Amino acid sequence: MKQGLPKEIMTLPHVRRMLSAVVETAPVALCVINRNLALSRVEGQEFPELGLHLGGGRPASCRKVWQDQPALVDAARRALKGETVSTTVVAGENAYDLQFLPVIGRGGKPQSVIAVFADVTSRYTSLVQIPDREEFLQGIIDTVVDGIVTIDQLGLIRDFNPSAALIFGYQPSEVVGKTLTMLMPEPYRSEHHGYVERYLATGKSTVIGKRRELAGLRKDGTIFPIEIAISELEVGDQRHFTGVIRDITERKEAERALRASEERYALAARGANDGLWDWNLEDNTIYFSPRFKAMLGYREDEIGESPEEWMNRIHRDDVDQFCDDVDAHLSARTVTFQSEYRIRRKSGEILRMVARGVALRHDDGTPYRMAGSQSDITDRKQAEERLIHDALHDALTGLPNRTLLLDRLGQALARIKRNPESRFALAVLNLDRFRMVNESLGHGAGDDLLLAVSRRLENQIDMGDTLARLGADDFAVLMEDTPNEKTARTNVARIKKTIAHPFRLSGREVFTSASVGIVMGEAEYPTPTDLLRDAELAMARAKRDGKGKTETFYSSLRREAVGLMEAETDLRKAIEQERVVPYYQPIIALNTGRVVGFEALARIEHPQRGIVPPAEFIHIAEDTGLIVPMCEQMMSLACAQTAAWQEAFDLEGKLSVSVNLSARNLADENLYGMLEQVLADSGLSPGSLHVEITESLLMSNPELMEQTLQRLKTLDLCLALDDFGTGYSSLSYLQSFPLDVLKIDRSFVARMVSEARDQELVRIIVMLAHTLGLDVVAEGVETAGHADVLRALNCEFAQGFHYAAPMRAEEAGDILSAGFDV
Ligand code: C2E
Ligand code: MG
Ligand code: MG
Repeated sequence: MKQGLPKEIMTLPHVRRMLSAVVETAPVALCVINRNLALSRVEGQEFPELGLHLGGGRPASCRKVWQDQPALVDAARRALKGETVSTTVVAGENAYDLQFLPVIGRGGKPQSVIAVFADVTSRYTSLVQIPDREEFLQGIIDTVVDGIVTIDQLGLIRDFNPSAALIFGYQPSEVVGKTLTMLMPEPYRSEHHGYVERYLATGKSTVIGKRRELAGLRKDGTIFPIEIAISELEVGDQRHFTGVIRDITERKEAERALRASEERYALAARGANDGLWDWNLEDNTIYFSPRFKAMLGYREDEIGESPEEWMNRIHRDDVDQFCDDVDAHLSARTVTFQSEYRIRRKSGEILRMVARGVALRHDDGTPYRMAGSQSDITDRKQAEERLIHDALHDALTGLPNRTLLLDRLGQALARIKRNPESRFALAVLNLDRFRMVNESLGHGAGDDLLLAVSRRLENQIDMGDTLARLGADDFAVLMEDTPNEKTARTNVARIKKTIAHPFRLSGREVFTSASVGIVMGEAEYPTPTDLLRDAELAMARAKRDGKGKTETFYSSLRREAVGLMEAETDLRKAIEQERVVPYYQPIIALNTGRVVGFEALARIEHPQRGIVPPAEFIHIAEDTGLIVPMCEQMMSLACAQTAAWQEAFDLEGKLSVSVNLSARNLADENLYGMLEQVLADSGLSPGSLHVEITESLLMSNPELMEQTLQRLKTLDLCLALDDFGTGYSSLSYLQSFPLDVLKIDRSFVARMVSEARDQELVRIIVMLAHTLGLDVVAEGVETAGHADVLRALNCEFAQGFHYAAPMRAEEAGDILSAGFDV
């Protein structure tokens, strides 16, 4: 009793029998504590100090009874959880030795607790002197959950406890005196006799003192797994063997289920094409499944069992991480093991794998085995990498995109913050007139141009620099190691030169140039986006200054940008409210002094700013695309007005109107339809409409422009080449364009009087124009002297302040009604 009854072997009826045998005479008190932690009955002695009074009565809460003895309450509570608790308490004058014994029900859970209290002075004697000790022991045997079967040396069953009866399905009376083999299935049955004899003769046994797993045979004939531990005891000259037998059907079932689930896992893993590995950490060998080896291109016998077979094939750069991952799991820092690595196949090919696994550990936590799988994720990784690549690169050119550029800019900024000595520059390029190519030659040709430009740019950038495509025709070059603006500009000039050469697209030569904004990297930039924005501002500025320019960012640009946005809103409003109106400047026949036509020049009538000249808004209109609706407005007002004048003054076919088109208008695929519509709406005869295109625009992409103009010409309108002399075209070249009028730029006219050479030039221009069948208009005629020289040079028409500045329609009408002699 001192050792305590094994807690799991007690059941209530047997205990009660035992209790009644001992309690009457022994100086002990026994009580039962129920599941609700209440004392339900006390037998034996009374120990009032401990609140123990004889008799049943209503159960009293232990907490109440042992108010002053919290240790007892605690012990009872622990026993109810299945623990056998021994303790000693002092109460009043006396000390008591206590045992709390859990009473385990068949379900394996504590049902109640038997508490045995003994006065400390009589402690040892009291329990040892239990008069009916044999009955007491028998009680133990009777209550053990395990079957206990005792045989004599003849193999005859001498004792068969109730649990054995339950396990085997026999009543003790049916088996006692019979041979043990009746409880054994084959082959154990046949082996048994020889076994006992051999043991008795030699003293050698494989079972005595050890636990073994065997099979048992029930009365109903079923065979079931048992675990048996046999001990030998001598009673007098008789030898007895006692077997403690446990029915392990459930455990076996659980094990089988586990194995089945392991096999299922293995099957699943095989189905998933995974390789399996099982690492015995105690002898450091690894079992690699055939699939594991096959995944690496090896036959079954080509990979041994050492961990090196694995590690040595892992990529040199990944093996440390792999070992770290293993260590992390073995030292229980990770719940499961997982590691991604590259590994070499037998063929030399590199695969991407992920290994997953879990360690099995001893009770103290030391791992002894780790097992898991290895899956091939090469395809997935490649797909992932492709995804990442696609997310960071432009699909058309394969160049880094804005996101990747910003990332690199971020790195460059971080470097500059660490080391102010390091400098870099960012250039943003925009292709001039790209839209025109795109819209007139088609998107295919546009794409080809972008590709061709990309390839040329790529050849120009230094190693380590980043060339990115930001959007349609915007590129950026991050120039590392660029000490100052001068170097940046030199680099940019080189880059621009390479794209100045013509590109051949669908059999045509196409010219382009780039407007460039540069910004120097400064540690002050909070984010790469700010830096890129400034470069873009500088680029926009360069574009406004004139195509093909380069501009470096300066801080007032930021203010300008805001101004630009306001200007755009302003312009949009002006167009909506039809405050963009044509002012008319007369074109005069030099011989007669008569008005032969007007050039319609756009003005905004602004409520605050008064009359705003085109220099202040045309570039905004072009940059924002507002030039398209603006042009339409100008056209329809000018055509309607001219038709009205022709009618009013009987000038049908004798009064023309000139309207300016910009690059964006020519690229607009609706231009043709719009002109057709305007002509139809106004009733103006097409020949009275002159469309002006500047020489530089014409020369920016001659082949393209030729095509566009040929198409416009089918409307039967007149085409005028504006600002001639500023675009470096040769006159003979002009032959290929369907032109009707040539307008000599006013800079020639201005120099003509002072410079003999310019006068000579004008003479040749006029002459050649005439041979080409073109009418010539001189622009910027400011004085009578200019007019005289031009007349002498055979120039027929003139336009300029000498005659009139651009004016409102009413005033222009007045001129006409005055007889249109100026
Ligand atoms: P442009 O087509 O060459 O028009 C002639 C410009 O010279 C006009 O300037 C006119 O006022 C100015 N001018 C006329 N006579 C003289 C003179 O004797 N001396 C001087 N110094 N200048 C003279 P404006 O009206 O300021 O227009 C400037 C430019 O804006 C135009 O040049 C044209 O290219 C553009 N523009 C004007 N209206 C429109 C339009 O509706 N659409 C488009 N796309 N461009 C327009
Ligand atoms: Mg003009
Ligand atoms: Mg002009």
